[in-house]
Amino acid sequence: EVNLLSDLTIAKQAVMQPIQQIANSIGISEDALELYGKYKAKIDPGKISKKKNPGKIVLVTAISPTAAGEGKSTVTVGLADAMKQIGQSVVVALREPSLGPVMGVKGGATGGGYAQVLPMEEINLHFNGDIHAITTANNALAAFIDNHLHQGNDLNIDPRRISWKRVLDMNDRALRHITIGLGGPGQGIPREDGFDITVASEIMAILCLAENLVDLKERLARIVIGYTYAKEPVTVRDLGVEGALTLLLKEAIKPNLVQTIEGTPALIHGGPFANIAHGCNSIIATRTATHLAGVVVTEAGFGADLGAEKFMHIKSRQAGFAPDAVVIVATIRALKMQGGKAKDQLKEEDVDALLVGTSNLSKHVETIRAFGIEPVIALNKFIADTEEETKALLSWCQEQNIAIALTEVWEKGGAGGVELAKLVLNELDKPSNFAPLYDLEDSIENKVRTIVQQVYGGKDVVFTDAAKKQIDQLVSYGWDALPICMAKTQYSLSDRPKLLGRPTDFTITVREVKPKLGAGFLVCLTGDIMTMPGLPKKPAALNMDVAEDGQALGLF
Ligand code: ADP
Repeated sequence: EVNLLSDLTIAKQAVMQPIQQIANSIGISEDALELYGKYKAKIDPGKISKKKNPGKIVLVTAISPTAAGEGKSTVTVGLADAMKQIGQSVVVALREPSLGPVMGVKGGATGGGYAQVLPMEEINLHFNGDIHAITTANNALAAFIDNHLHQGNDLNIDPRRISWKRVLDMNDRALRHITIGLGGPGQGIPREDGFDITVASEIMAILCLAENLVDLKERLARIVIGYTYAKEPVTVRDLGVEGALTLLLKEAIKPNLVQTIEGTPALIHGGPFANIAHGCNSIIATRTATHLAGVVVTEAGFGADLGAEKFMHIKSRQAGFAPDAVVIVATIRALKMQGGKAKDQLKEEDVDALLVGTSNLSKHVETIRAFGIEPVIALNKFIADTEEETKALLSWCQEQNIAIALTEVWEKGGAGGVELAKLVLNELDKPSNFAPLYDLEDSIENKVRTIVQQVYGGKDVVFTDAAKKQIDQLVSYGWDALPICMAKTQYSLSDRPKLLGRPTDFTITVREVKPKLGAGFLVCLTGDIMTMPGLPKKPAALNMDVAEDGQALGLF
């Protein structure tokens, strides 16, 4: 009998252990633990003893997703639970959910079914306040900039060349382009401004890439907020506010400890999107997890063309660690969609569409292999999958020599992921051949070209005239030896969301190249991708409520 309870109902039925007990189970001392109520805590990474042989890292990624998500978080959590069931010491390391998708279309990011992290409603809503702290630090900087203009503009900042934007943790398209400072001389200097979603803020990326508080402050100081009238860059250090910004983030930099339904420890920290940012949880959390357990299961957002590529080229390079194994989550429904099946017919059996759609899976497999890692496929089983379809995919993988495990963690928790866990352990036993695909010293054009050709399977990259001009400027400032953070649609390997399957012969257009010196990467914006999403016609918010006793309702 298959469960059809909502994620929230299943989460509410689960009995949580006091968080101290979870901390004890992996040797976190009382001294390192800061309680946020009964079931949440922050941990001080400085007070965790370092292992000589840190744990191995399993990265969970996916094929190109449908709008609903393919169950990466679900499989990540379920795989960790399965590892625990077969006797491994394990910690799962996830990103923090953003309220934009929670209230919008995609839902939360705490897994699903019997593979969830708890308390799901708190994690999905305000959690321990990290995202609010990032929003506040970001907007404090915006306020300091506008105050500087108002108070005489000693730095000679050109108000038309301020690139620092305000942020909000919500999808709010009406704020993409705004005018501020209206109302006369007492109200500041009028200028055009705009909002991004918090998870696209450079401060979110910085928090996720910083090694510690000192590094955090140094990175914040390096942020370029805009340019002077003489077109010289202006940094946070010039404004002298890096100390204040670091102060606002001093608690947010500590990873959050929670638990899965099965009592597996989970570190949840940082949450940049993978399409408009680098898509990985914090280095601090992942590294801390490797000192707490033998196996760390973590995830990177969207398909392997986005989150995983950035995990390899940005996070791994910065942190000095790399995944020891990679899991690619695939679903029958997404493969059918990649094979041309209409979105509203994905529940109908269609082995032909499925087999056409495997072209998408096969590109992502090749990509992970290009990094020197042999991936394992997790077929995340949905109720509507038919036996014929499942058999067809399993035998296709066998023919292609790709390891695959039918994964039923949504329905059964860790018990549904034991086969997957065993295949992954098998890969962890092999020596790692990981190598990035480009060198930092390559030109910006060549770095992007490498990603387009080797990761997306495209023909080439085209830079608009505006982007070319920006690149010349970046080179003249000496900022070109940085990794690339592509901003691209998650729905297609190309920059056109409707081009499904495995397109070939396409070019990617880069329309803007933005320096993020604090984060330490260059953002390349492609296609129509936007850094402030909008809400759909019927947002998930319409189903939400709260009962008289304070219980969340309809959270999904
Ligand atoms: P991703 O991390 O890829 O975005 P999630 O793990 O967050 O995806 O899952 C998205 C939604 O899909 C969640 O609401 C989850 O409950 C649901 N889901 C995931 N796997 C399954 C499954 N096998 N069957 C039914 N629903 C699932």
